[in-house]
Amino acid sequence: MTLPTASSPGARLRLVNLSKAFGGTRAVDNVTLELGPGSFTALLGPSGCGKSTMLSLIAGLVDADSGGVELDGHRVDGVPAEHRPIGLVFQKPLLFPHLSVEANVAFGLRMRQVPRREARPLVRDMLAKVQLSALAGRRVGALSGGQEQRVAIARALVLSPRLLLLDEPFSQLDATLRVEMRALVRALTDEAKVTTLFVTHDQAEAVELAEDIALMLDGRITGQAAADVFYTRPPSLAAARFFGATNELPGHVDAGRFTCPGARGSVLADVPDGPAVLVARPETLQLSTEVLSGTPGPTVAEALRLCGIATTARFAGTHLSVDVRLDGEAALTVHVPVGTSVELGDDVTVTAPRSACTVFGTGR
Ligand code: ATP
Repeated sequence: MTLPTASSPGARLRLVNLSKAFGGTRAVDNVTLELGPGSFTALLGPSGCGKSTMLSLIAGLVDADSGGVELDGHRVDGVPAEHRPIGLVFQKPLLFPHLSVEANVAFGLRMRQVPRREARPLVRDMLAKVQLSALAGRRVGALSGGQEQRVAIARALVLSPRLLLLDEPFSQLDATLRVEMRALVRALTDEAKVTTLFVTHDQAEAVELAEDIALMLDGRITGQAAADVFYTRPPSLAAARFFGATNELPGHVDAGRFTCPGARGSVLADVPDGPAVLVARPETLQLSTEVLSGTPGPTVAEALRLCGIATTARFAGTHLSVDVRLDGEAALTVHVPVGTSVELGDDVTVTAPRSACTVFGTGR
């Protein structure tokens, strides 16, 4: 089968009810997902949730048990991996150690029998883009980890793939280099307008790099949205917990409104009446050391007002992280600007704006 060439450099990728099991493990479980042409999506999830298996299915390295992969509306299930217009970059660069940097980058073009005089400028241009021109003649065995990954990225992109799959490519690099490499990948993929799926288990990396995040838990995609939506409106309690550093207040929904012990006010909740949990990130809450006894309940713009005692206040670089034990016995954390005067044991009031709260039912 020959895939049609399209006007856009990036392909539209669609996974349709894709499943793959290994013995009793459902590594990829009925996944349906769509990536627009030229988009950059992070496939985020904890170790073992099925991310690498999903990439292998898309690339054609592993056959699906059911469902399929579409590129620009065409099923590619029967197309061998080497004939799919897909570039791959793995955690380990898998270079040819006896070849030079230039020969490694040129390898795919040679396999495609691109004449040397056409291949050479493409390779040179790509080496310049990954800032390796000065090392073109060096054997890849004598490169640093970051330089090896630059070669791997150049080797994938020089073939002008329509879809680029990156499987935790920077997990073995140190923190400073990872930040540098993220910026490089984003610049290169934006320029090439290639559709990109970037696998990571690191929330910060996903948020920094991608327009969209697809969250994978236990073989399933549990949500696909812009990064900020995962923070402000997590699609599930599991998603909120995976993003971490969030507060959970146990309570109850009655007549469509959430309340919890010791709180004034209530929150509109689109979940069935019964036990529930309110989720709110520490940076979205407001903390005041005003004594509020006898003050009115929350204003219309607020959702909940909770009283408690400050139990710890830690300097965290960009903010002060304050733990509060609430009158209702629950606890939560609030981030306040550095320099805010909070003493341990202070009576405090925490206000949760309506926009910061998401409620999930926890009953059966
Ligand atoms: P990590 O982030 O640790 O690489 P992952 O999210 O990429 O993990 P996968 O490597 O896709 O997860 O594995 C998903 C599940 O499938 C795991 O339970 C894994 O043990 C299992 N699995 C993956 N490949 C195979 C295989 N070839 N044979 C048997 N089980 C496998």
